[in-house]
Amino acid sequence: RANRMFHPEDSIVDVCGVKVGGKQITVMAGPCSVETREQIIGVAEDVKQMGAAILRGGAFKPRTSPYSFQGLQETGLDLLKEAKAVTGLPIITEIMSADKIERFVEDVDVIQVGARNMQNFELLKELGKTDKPILLKRGLSATIEEWLMSAEYIMAGGNDNVILCERGIRTFENYTRNTLDLSAIPAVKKLSHLPVVVDPSHAAGMWWMVEPLAKAAVAVGADGLIIEVHNDPEHALCDGAQSLKPERFGRLMQDLKIIAGAV
Ligand code: PEP
Ligand code: MN
Repeated sequence: RANRMFHPEDSIVDVCGVKVGGKQITVMAGPCSVETREQIIGVAEDVKQMGAAILRGGAFKPRTSPYSFQGLQETGLDLLKEAKAVTGLPIITEIMSADKIERFVEDVDVIQVGARNMQNFELLKELGKTDKPILLKRGLSATIEEWLMSAEYIMAGGNDNVILCERGIRTFENYTRNTLDLSAIPAVKKLSHLPVVVDPSHAAGMWWMVEPLAKAAVAVGADGLIIEVHNDPEHALCDGAQSLKPERFGRLMQDLKIIAGAV
């Protein structure tokens, strides 16, 4: 079902009227994690004004260490809902287990499957029974074929609203947090009709590299971006080092228009 052979035209996923795929570049932005009401609503207002179409914010966080901030969980979902009510921006947030699907279907506009859960097949099957847009991140060490097969798991259940997300992969290189696989974008576009967005933040791991990678992603044909933006990156509870301040995000949005117009 994800294969372009059986579906030659590009798919467009509709998120509360915001289109992902097709002609325009759709930008999702917001903090790695929802921290406080002031933080999420403040960042939501900023990124909306700068042209983001969807608000991101983690409530359930897949942290490497069990002693790191695990997210505000249910409270985080409540705060995202408030930010949506204030700004009108649809919201995307990560799910980690199938027992939360009901709540996510109720309150969230795009359900994110993180890199670490790309091959959680039972979760993918359950998400396939919903009709929610799903953003499927590429696994840390997943091949393009494995990634597309995971999309297939969701689609096999009847949910065709899948958005792929390239967020960098594990390689021998350790200067960057991950290695952004830019060639995956044209590859996936050839193999599949699904929209693909790029996450330059988790690929780079460093805020100053987000801008060039975001531009490159648009230049190679990505349908959108998901970018971490924080009002106070120095004190962020998660991924501050790779988060843009709102002003810098705003400048990037202006530059992206020029590149999007040229491709
Ligand atoms: C995130 O988006 O905050 C995240 C945890 O991403 P990934 O699953 O790509 O590591
Ligand atoms: Mn993050």
